[in-house]
Amino acid sequence: MATSIEGQSVSDIRIDGIQSFGCLIRFDSLLQEVLQVSANLQEKLGISIDKALTSAPKDILGSKLQQRIKQSLSNNLRLSAALIINRQVLGTYQRFYVMAYRSDDSIIIEFEPLSRSGEQRLMPIVNEWLSRLAQVQQIELLQQMLVQSIQAVTGYDRVLLCQFDSHWNRTAIAEVCRNPSRSLLNYRFPASDIPAQVRNRYVIQPLRNIPDVNAQIVPLTPTSADLDLPQLDLTAGMLRALSPHHQRYLREIKVAASLSIAIAGEQQLWGILTCHHFTAVEVSAAERDAAFNLVQMATQRMFLLQARQQATFLQQVLDSRELLSTERDKVVQPKALLEKYGKNWMQLFNCSGIALLYHDQVSCTGETLDSYELDIVGKWLSEHNGNKVCWACDQLSNSPLDKLVNLRSRAGLLAVPLPIEQNQSGWLLLFRNAKKVQFSWVGKKQIIEAETSNPLHRVEERGYEIWVETIDTEAPRWSVKEQHAAQDLAEDLAVAITVHQISRLNTELQRANKQLKEIAHTDTLTKIWNRYRMELAIDAELAAAERYGHPCSILLFDVDRFKSVNDTYGHDVGDQVLTRLAEEVQSKLRISDNLGRWGGEEFIVLASHNSLEEAIALAERLRQHIETVEFKTVGKITVSIGVAEAIPGKESRRRLFERADQAMYRAKQSGRNRVEAASTELSAS
Ligand code: GH3
Ligand code: MG
Ligand code: MG
Repeated sequence: MATSIEGQSVSDIRIDGIQSFGCLIRFDSLLQEVLQVSANLQEKLGISIDKALTSAPKDILGSKLQQRIKQSLSNNLRLSAALIINRQVLGTYQRFYVMAYRSDDSIIIEFEPLSRSGEQRLMPIVNEWLSRLAQVQQIELLQQMLVQSIQAVTGYDRVLLCQFDSHWNRTAIAEVCRNPSRSLLNYRFPASDIPAQVRNRYVIQPLRNIPDVNAQIVPLTPTSADLDLPQLDLTAGMLRALSPHHQRYLREIKVAASLSIAIAGEQQLWGILTCHHFTAVEVSAAERDAAFNLVQMATQRMFLLQARQQATFLQQVLDSRELLSTERDKVVQPKALLEKYGKNWMQLFNCSGIALLYHDQVSCTGETLDSYELDIVGKWLSEHNGNKVCWACDQLSNSPLDKLVNLRSRAGLLAVPLPIEQNQSGWLLLFRNAKKVQFSWVGKKQIIEAETSNPLHRVEERGYEIWVETIDTEAPRWSVKEQHAAQDLAEDLAVAITVHQISRLNTELQRANKQLKEIAHTDTLTKIWNRYRMELAIDAELAAAERYGHPCSILLFDVDRFKSVNDTYGHDVGDQVLTRLAEEVQSKLRISDNLGRWGGEEFIVLASHNSLEEAIALAERLRQHIETVEFKTVGKITVSIGVAEAIPGKESRRRLFERADQAMYRAKQSGRNRVEAASTELSAS
């Protein structure tokens, strides 16, 4: 057996009886025969049960009403709106609110007497509230005004607006209550109060009216069992009797009358507005309808305001993205972007910290985790969620990440993949801190827990008890809009990161190229040009000399008896001598002359624009200078120099070298520490 605040469950959906504020007649599906009537027919309609059960439907309804209902129900399951009829009951005219619907292969017609009083009074009140509600700009204010308006129109002691959460628990988010000690504002009602079957019935009939919890149920006669028919499903009507369990529950919470109005959201029920009275109450059908219309109008406005809020949020994200796109041309470091815009994004997304993981780098702002922990989170996300899927969590302590990192106060995480490269995982991580919330549950703790863990296990005696639960491990949920907006932001960030990455790679490439060039052209010991670079320079110079007709010479020089330097002082000292020698020669050259190491202890000077005579003079100056230099450890050294002037267009570089080399050899032969010139004849030979 089951119980809920609304009192219905699978087992007791159908009761062969109605509430006493109206009467009911069940006809066959063609409206040709009366099958069942409620036992209060005489009292409400002035027609005896016997007469009703033996009369033709048109004699009871009148042919006009019969035709009208027949016609309306030919295509529909119920009348689109109730009909108001006037009928003579025991000599006086009485107005009735008539609802007709199909159920279980029958047509059901419900009659609800309308009191004359109050209807005229209603119009101006309802209109005033409607116009007030239409002007509210703020959602919480609108919700508060809605419950006030319902109380003003219906007079109920307590009006509660409850919103469903994602688990179908309801929280009372707005209330008016005549007795403040009985306030239920901010209380939570467990999902098991209104199981799925009952929720589905609210979709069919959003109104549930129980004007007197203690009223006797009016039976149907003959009973369905007598007719060998299943018990009637009266969901679509207004008179359906309340179950004993529902009755017991309402008594436990000391409610004598209730009216519930379901609020439909975009895809499913959004919430329920519940009115309670602490004594039985007669709420007219007109007041009930007025309340329903107010709820409809107010919730439409509420959804509109919500949509506006979301649009504002999206616009702000868009503004932020536009700012970001202006940075694109500037090649800003992702870290700098986070420093610049992080605060704004944290505000927009209502989060405590933001981190960017990309190319093995971590940047963060606000309250996140330690860098190495962020790295672990990134790796876990890539491994378990793929690189392309967004991951939203509002209770990290319940996720596998709890075991991998120290979460501290972080309870919410929205992880959005950064589409940087096909197989490269990058993440934009938005963190939310835990928010401490206290819920006052209506119902006993063990019962709620038992029912929550096993929806089939429902307890008959729930009792009325308040149980306070404190939760400090949850963060506000990530809305779908927030997730989409974060994905847009992540795309922009990925572009910024890629631009920065490309520019960084370009800089690195340029540096590497420069390095490569230097390695290729420089002698590692003396840091002057190497043989390869020298050959390039001589080739270029020979070509220029041929084209412009200017002279060009080379000086090939060799350290005298260098072997003995090595032998006496060691190779390292020999190296120092070569380095110093290069510096000394360089210091004596014009800017247009180039010095290179030819190999071993041999060097070359490319003396551009120099004739043989000028080159010999230069060689002599160099030789004399070297002679005077005091080399560390070694003391004095000398060089022998061979000089050759190029014969442009008539000889190759190799041939020019040969001539210079021969001249140098002659210098060696002639006693060293000398300059010898190559004869031009030799080149021709
Ligand atoms: P010569 O006057 O006839 O040129 O006598 P030399 O001793 O200079 O000529 P030789 O060709 O016999 O010896 C050249 C020496 O230069 C032999 C080699 O060990 C040395 N040498 C060549 N390259 C380097 C170098 O990079 N560092 C050092 N320390 N020695 C080098
Ligand atoms: Mg040599
Ligand atoms: Mg030598």
